[in-house]
Amino acid sequence: MDNRIGKEQARSVQKVQLPLHEPLGRISCPRCGNSVNFVEQLESVMVTTTYKQNTDGSFTPVEQNSDTYGEMSFLCGECGYDLTPFHAHFREMVF
Ligand SMILES: [Zn+2]
Repeated sequence: MDNRIGKEQARSVQKVQLPLHEPLGRISCPRCGNSVNFVEQLESVMVTTTYKQNTDGSFTPVEQNSDTYGEMSFLCGECGYDLTPFHAHFREMVF
């Protein structure tokens, strides 16, 4: 019987919430007003390249992987203002 109440609660929790904190239109820089140029910046990237050594002692790259570390920043391309709170919106709008 408690089980049935639990299911009802789970159903009401699943209601889709629209993200209200995200801008619906175009992003523009609150400092300089730029709405054209933007920069995505990553703290650091580790690139790993796998090589095979050939019989003559030379090396041939087999595969390259890059791993990203740290915070991804989203900045105004004109004045460098930190627009990271809009980063999720930006990623959704990259085509
Ligand atoms: Zn700016």
